[in-house]
Amino acid sequence: MTTADDAAVPLRCQGLVRVYRAATSETHALRGVDAQFAAGRFTGVVGPSGSGKSSLLALLALRDKPDAGTLDVLGTSTTEARPSRVRALRRTAIAWIAQRPTHSLFPHLSAEEHLRLAGRLRRTPLDPADALDQVGLGGRAGSLPVQLSGGEQQRLAVACALAGRPPVVLADEPTAELDDDSAGLVLDALSAAAEQGSCVVVTTHDARLVAGADRVLLLRHGVLSTDRAAGGGDSAVIDSAGRLQLPQAALDLLHGGRAVVSVHGDHVRLDPLEDR
Ligand code: ADP
Ligand code: MG
Repeated sequence: MTTADDAAVPLRCQGLVRVYRAATSETHALRGVDAQFAAGRFTGVVGPSGSGKSSLLALLALRDKPDAGTLDVLGTSTTEARPSRVRALRRTAIAWIAQRPTHSLFPHLSAEEHLRLAGRLRRTPLDPADALDQVGLGGRAGSLPVQLSGGEQQRLAVACALAGRPPVVLADEPTAELDDDSAGLVLDALSAAAEQGSCVVVTTHDARLVAGADRVLLLRHGVLSTDRAAGGGDSAVIDSAGRLQLPQAALDLLHGGRAVVSVHGDHVRLDPLEDR
């Protein structure tokens, strides 16, 4: 059963590890990620290409499985739950928006039919005209995907994903291939979903999405390094293993790659280790 606490923080993960193994190599995409994502919040996940953003989002979306660590979705431990329970959560509780809409649209269904289908799958009554209006597709109810531009297709995919106000909304670089107008409409729809109570997590390089987020997490080399709340300063993330990623200015000071860590009352000090 989902408690009020679980509904307020629908996503919690601890120590998430993802290693991609090939015949001769291993890529450690996530090296132990601890995070909680609250309902009603829009969280941006940023970081250089290859830092693990898509890997993290695929795990949160239950589209992939971690090699270690735990992930609770609405109070269910997905790493322990039966596969049928995990599938049900993925279908009913999680909206997934990919960078390209092609995989989520059906060539033979009109925009309106897409919305009707999304409503049926989420078992929720919805007004397709209203849902299309919200993403600026008011006049395109009868259009097939092939008759829509790339930006319009993505807006349709977003409207379908948000059908029935799912508690968790995850989008992996949803505006990366969009023109400015479509990107703005997608951002507005995601912000509205957060305002209506969904837990929204978006990976992005888009400065507008970052500016519109309530909170921004920075991933570096598969580890969360910075957590920034809107209007607040940056806080460095210290994970459950005690690891901390230092900002570049601190790295420049601690040039040798080794430091002396000392605790002084209520603060901690790092001194560069002199050559021995
Ligand atoms: P980002 O989304 O931040 O660019 P990714 O999560 O896609 O980062 O990738 C993190 C690392 O994992 C990269 O080094 C990438 O090459 C590697 N990677 C991602 N997916 C796979 C995969 N399916 N197989 C092997 N390596 C992968
Ligand atoms: Mg990516």
